[in-house]
Amino acid sequence: MRRIERNAPESSLDPPHWRKLRAASRRMLDDMLDYLENIHREPVWRPMSERVRQAFRRDLPVRPAELRAVYEEFLRHVLPYTAANVHPRFMGWVQGGGTAIGMLAEMLAGALNANCGGRDHAPIEVERQITEWSRRLFGFPAGASGLFLGGASMANLIALLVARRAALGPAVRRAGLGASDKRLVAYASVATHACVARAMDVAGLGTEQLRLLPVDADHRIELEALRRAIDGDRGAGCTPFLVVGNAGTVDIGAIDDLASLADLAAAEQLWLHVDGAFGALGVLAPEIAPRLAGLERADSLAFDFHKWGQVPYDAGFVLVRDGALHRDTFATPAEYLRRATRGIAAGDSWPTDFGPDLSRGFRALKTWFTLRVYGTQQLGAAIARTCAVARHLAARVASEERLELLAPVPLNIVCFRYRAPRGDADALNAAIVADVQERGVAAPSTTRIGSRLAIRAAIFNHRTREPDVDALADAVLRFGDRRVGRRAPRRAGPSAPRRATRTRARVAR
Ligand SMILES: *Cc1c(COP(=O)(O)O)cnc(C)c1O
Repeated sequence: MRRIERNAPESSLDPPHWRKLRAASRRMLDDMLDYLENIHREPVWRPMSERVRQAFRRDLPVRPAELRAVYEEFLRHVLPYTAANVHPRFMGWVQGGGTAIGMLAEMLAGALNANCGGRDHAPIEVERQITEWSRRLFGFPAGASGLFLGGASMANLIALLVARRAALGPAVRRAGLGASDKRLVAYASVATHACVARAMDVAGLGTEQLRLLPVDADHRIELEALRRAIDGDRGAGCTPFLVVGNAGTVDIGAIDDLASLADLAAAEQLWLHVDGAFGALGVLAPEIAPRLAGLERADSLAFDFHKWGQVPYDAGFVLVRDGALHRDTFATPAEYLRRATRGIAAGDSWPTDFGPDLSRGFRALKTWFTLRVYGTQQLGAAIARTCAVARHLAARVASEERLELLAPVPLNIVCFRYRAPRGDADALNAAIVADVQERGVAAPSTTRIGSRLAIRAAIFNHRTREPDVDALADAVLRFGDRRVGRRAPRRAGPSAPRRATRTRARVAR
């Protein structure tokens, strides 16, 4: 019979032998630090074989397994096949690189297993600290509220719901949208992230009630068009209620004229929300901060710590100027969540009063560690660095005859493409991107600039340096030349991917 240790009655899920678990844990920690230290030696991405996929199509496990065996599977079937946004040559979409500090904080949070829906405990104070820091960082007044969410998509939705509540009053919560005869209309530029339209849908307002306005040559919302649209809608009996400004568009990183938007919103009595998913944290970089002027006048702001802030996924955040209104949008009395004046149930304002979630993880801890360990100075320097790397790539593109830049590069995103001598340039560039990804050289993504498909290199990872973007440019030229049958005018660059070397991760015994 198995010996039952004092702290581990057989019926609990605690390990029967803590000492053995400690040994396994140290190995896992070492392996993961090895992984982060050496990730630059690995290909960015490897396609999963059918055999690998089969590992995740098994029957529900009924009997226990050895931790060692499960960990071995993780090393074999998960670790080598991530999208690798921790990799310095990952430049696809808009994703942060994370840090080892963030990873360690995740481990600490995992041990506490805190539920941050409410009640009186230090994890809630940590979240309040982040709210307070964010409030000051973005120049919001005392009384502003903040909340961690999964990402900016959710943060945009929460802000939109507060704006809806502001426009329709408290009745909307009881009687629903049908009780109002107002037709609410919102405004944003065509460069706005699709999650804003989805938020209109989810909020019951309808995507057609989001007017998508044209942008100028710098991809910023055209204010005259916005004014005309508002007038037109008022004339047609609609109720304009919300304008969404962009602080860093997802395609190219354009920043709307936020100060003018704030003036216009004030004059028209509209709620000004800013989608600052990645760009808002540009306030940490002295060279970018002035371009965000006006952000401090927004009624609400959505942003992500997990992009430019390098906090591990996920860590979205919403700030609302009028914290009382934010609370009135979501707070719902329930006897089992009664607030006490003493004990664990103390505190009047709990995070659950500010959003739809009750149970919530401790996202604040990894954010707190990141801000404390690096300080805003170092994080700001990393942000500025990504912009410098993007400028380097833009200059490289401009210097290559076979490449063309498709959009301005105001921040850290470069949209370019290989010039097709003939035929379908969109198909060619899509194929080049797939080539570059599949060879594991780099991971750009694509987008459309106007009618043209662009190769999009979004430099968010603090690890990415000039040679990494040069490797991307070299690879695009090489694969492009090969596809159009052009002889390369000079030797292909130094970016041939090294052969995949398996991470020398040892397996827990
Ligand atoms: C990334 C992004 C979003 C969506 O944020 P998630 O954190 O992925 O939900 C919204 N808007 C912009 C401008 C973004 O870059």
